Amino acid sequence: MGDLKLSNLNKSFGSVAALNDVNLDVEDGDFVVFVGPSGCGKSTLLRIIAGLEDITSGGIAIGGRDVAALSPAERKIAMVFQSYALYPHMSVRKNLAFGLENLKFKRDEIEARIAEAARMLAIEPYLDRKPRQLSGGQRQRVAIGRAIVREPAIFLFDEPLSNLDAALRVQTRAEITRLHRQMKTTMIYVTHDQVEAMTMADKIVVLRAGRVEQVGTPLELFDHPRNLFVAGFLGSPRMNILKGRAVVGDDCRVLVDVGHPALLASDADPGAVSAGQEVVAGIRPAHFMLSDEGLPFEVQYHESLGTETYVYGNLQGQSEPVIIHQPGHFAPAPGSILKIMPEQQRLHVFDPASELALA
Ligand code: ATP
Repeated sequence: MGDLKLSNLNKSFGSVAALNDVNLDVEDGDFVVFVGPSGCGKSTLLRIIAGLEDITSGGIAIGGRDVAALSPAERKIAMVFQSYALYPHMSVRKNLAFGLENLKFKRDEIEARIAEAARMLAIEPYLDRKPRQLSGGQRQRVAIGRAIVREPAIFLFDEPLSNLDAALRVQTRAEITRLHRQMKTTMIYVTHDQVEAMTMADKIVVLRAGRVEQVGTPLELFDHPRNLFVAGFLGSPRMNILKGRAVVGDDCRVLVDVGHPALLASDADPGAVSAGQEVVAGIRPAHFMLSDEGLPFEVQYHESLGTETYVYGNLQGQSEPVIIHQPGHFAPAPGSILKIMPEQQRLHVFDPASELALA
């Protein structure tokens, strides 16, 4: 079984604390993506699961079995690296067979597994080529094939698409998702790429400075970030941040006064705020509408992407610039004033001191 449990896991490299008290439950068959800024501990966590790195303290169990003392080979995991890590002097077929031969698998079984993996990945035509005779995308498919033939309980992927060009990334991303649906094996995937995280994951784990900040489905994290860090990390362009004060309306709703006659309505818990309390309001660019009753927004410039437009500008009294999204073509003149309002129920409210969502 490919379930994974990390309990109170810590990892230090000398005086550097790379992971701090990490607790994580991954269910068998889940596709879990680790994201976080550079240096937050994603690769270290993956390498610990693989058995390539020891833990300083805590527990790690795969399929209910404590694996902390087991070698990588004994853990029933297979890892796919960004660099492919293929043997250059061996043919594709030999690259696929090599690990199984070392484990003394019978020739028939090896051939059957290679045939099945090659079929799944459509690499049959290349089985007799050397890695240097393949494109980057084909090499990555072979690297994935080498993981598949081992029939692991858990696949680990360390930024497998980052060496591919944009079009091939999209294609390979879809292929890995399809493989996951077909095989239903647990996959743990490290990436810097927001789109990969949002589109591939059953669950995203957001890490910061060696700690787990939040775990949830992509939409849970996007719609209900538990703190400002998660809110700012997921979504591109990032969430807008406005400073304001909470006002509890007659209908007991929390409204946010950001220094304009119009108040911004939120779904924050009225019990979690006191009247007049300083708060931070978060609004994603796509959740601003143009509205005559809205807040005055001075346009600086815009970026047209063809099907959508981002407009950059300023709200009076706010130090941070604000970005709004409009579908289609939209070309407001620099210096012009638009009136903008957050969509109902799309305003996030945070405590500026604790940075936690007031939900
Ligand atoms: P990136 O996205 O840049 O690959 P990451 O999130 O994968 O980063 P890690 O590579 O896991 O981060 O590193 C986590 C922390 O541990 C960093 O501060 C890093 O400098 C440190 N670190 C990682 N490996 C070692 C090592 N072998 N020796 C000392 N420090 C290390």
